[in-house]
Amino acid sequence: MNLTITKQCEYCHQDFSTSNSRKKYCNKTCRNYASEVRTGKREAIPLPSLPSNSKPLSVEEKEQLLELLKAANEEIKVLENQIKQGDEANEGESFYWRGRDELRIKLFRLQEKRYDYYQRLTKGDGLLQGEEILKTIQYQPTYPLRELNDQMIIMLGYPKLPFVATVVGDEGSGKSILSVGICRTLIRLLQCKALYVVDMENEGDVLKYFGAKSVDYEYLSIKKADSIQDIEGALAMDHFEFLFIDSTSSFHFNAANIKKLRYSYPKLSIFCISRVAERSIKSIATVCMDTYVQLHPHPGITEMGMVDISGKAVPPLKHEIYDDEREMEITTYDEPQYQTYNKSEYSGFGNFC
Ligand SMILES: [Zn+2]
Repeated sequence: MNLTITKQCEYCHQDFSTSNSRKKYCNKTCRNYASEVRTGKREAIPLPSLPSNSKPLSVEEKEQLLELLKAANEEIKVLENQIKQGDEANEGESFYWRGRDELRIKLFRLQEKRYDYYQRLTKGDGLLQGEEILKTIQYQPTYPLRELNDQMIIMLGYPKLPFVATVVGDEGSGKSILSVGICRTLIRLLQCKALYVVDMENEGDVLKYFGAKSVDYEYLSIKKADSIQDIEGALAMDHFEFLFIDSTSSFHFNAANIKKLRYSYPKLSIFCISRVAERSIKSIATVCMDTYVQLHPHPGITEMGMVDISGKAVPPLKHEIYDDEREMEITTYDEPQYQTYNKSEYSGFGNFC
């Protein structure tokens, strides 16, 4: 089936039609401009703000959306089958067969797209209430972190997204190395866009760590910032899913700033990188205390960056499950595998990225 889909150009943010779902820009000029933005030769165009009260969809628009939704549904079924067959063929080792992670992420992105169509469809009146297909799509999909076979994700503790993470450690403990590693892993696994904000002090190191091995600049933006306004300005330039702030104390970044960001960017997960004793990180940790997970201290951990994960925006029902999972996570961190995350190994970029 050769389906024409409507996409938003990643440079000019205008809608365009294409039959190629991988296409990102409406034309060559936009593609070239976007590459100039990445190399700093050109300023990005800010995202247009959402229409405050979008008008109800026309019948044609609804039908078109329903067609898109059905097509996504078919694709999802095919992928689910592929994964299921792969799992069956690799019984007992279903997490390890080659290509599973990519398929799983592809499936997640499709589910996400389908949910978006669903949201747009069901916003208006009840025209499509009788559609059986809509009943199957009630919940927003979440990243299949638990299904990904990756040490870094295991270390993060499979937080529910979006989350606020605090990466804390003493000076020279490897916080930036660890954070760069996490950032690259997330980009590689999830093909998501990440914004890594650095202050003057950390800029050199962070660029070095990113540069130590090639990184996909299509997905990564590194921004040297002087203020929270700089961070907000950079965030408005693209659809970022992860924000790294290295470090929070330089920007006097606190819990109130996080709340504001989460309001403006409900899908954004935030990594706050800081020294243990810094006031800004204490303020952030206090606000997130209800779902605060502290990794089990490990004998070797003082030489490393330590990662605390706190998940927010977890639905009440799932919250209970999350609590149970947290118990499991803590057990996981007792395993010696945690010891693999030391600074020297990161300098060589081990086998994680
Ligand atoms: Zn364009």
